[in-house]
Amino acid sequence: MADLDKSRQAVLARIAVALSAAGRQPDACQLLAVSKTFPAEAVRQCYATGQRAFGENYVQELQEKVVALADLADIEWHFIGPLQSNKSRTVAELAHWVHGIDRLKIAERLSAQRPANLPLLNVCVQVNVSGEASKSGCTPAEAVALAQAVAGLPRLRLRGLMCLPEPGAVDLAAQFALLRSLSDTLRSTGLALDTLSMGMSADLETAIAQGSTLVRVGTALFGARHTVAAPAPVKE
Ligand SMILES: *Cc1c(COP(=O)(O)O)cnc(C)c1O
Repeated sequence: MADLDKSRQAVLARIAVALSAAGRQPDACQLLAVSKTFPAEAVRQCYATGQRAFGENYVQELQEKVVALADLADIEWHFIGPLQSNKSRTVAELAHWVHGIDRLKIAERLSAQRPANLPLLNVCVQVNVSGEASKSGCTPAEAVALAQAVAGLPRLRLRGLMCLPEPGAVDLAAQFALLRSLSDTLRSTGLALDTLSMGMSADLETAIAQGSTLVRVGTALFGARHTVAAPAPVKE
């Protein structure tokens, strides 16, 4: 607990310094705690330090943590991984946000499957800003048309754009700037976007300098991830 409090304060301090260096308001960038592979108990401890927004990449893991932490009424779940069509219903029912919308078909399914008694599902369109063939996300050329189509779906609320640049790329700032400029273009067509989901543990300063409003941070909060999910705690 002491450690998570310390690591979270350190990340919040990095965000504050980066915002100030960019001449931006102190509350202009939120922290999303990426808890994938860490047990529900780690999320509970992080929540106890004041954190509310958590990011998960795997549908089954999201489901398990939502159940285990159902008593934390104001926790906010962000699904940030690639989403297969056959798992979209679970995410539509459990998540508050989905960051990786990269094709219209998945957005249409989420909209159709979002329960009527829940608020609209917040979504970001993911753009492949690095051009790597292996990366998910629509191309920059597709982004405007996709975002406009997603914005028209009844049970979704398009909040903005998300990217996952090539780690350590020499033109990292340019990749973030590309997402920012696509967002500006979309806003000029009348869409009310408020989110640029970009920046992680290693590059959040660069992302904030380019306008990030939400950094997704795992390692700097929870420590290094193992390749397999961490074992469940023996007891609460
Ligand atoms: C895992 C992950 C993160 C967090 O990365 P860290 O380097 O651990 O901060 C952020 N965004 C996405 C999409 C991820 O999959």
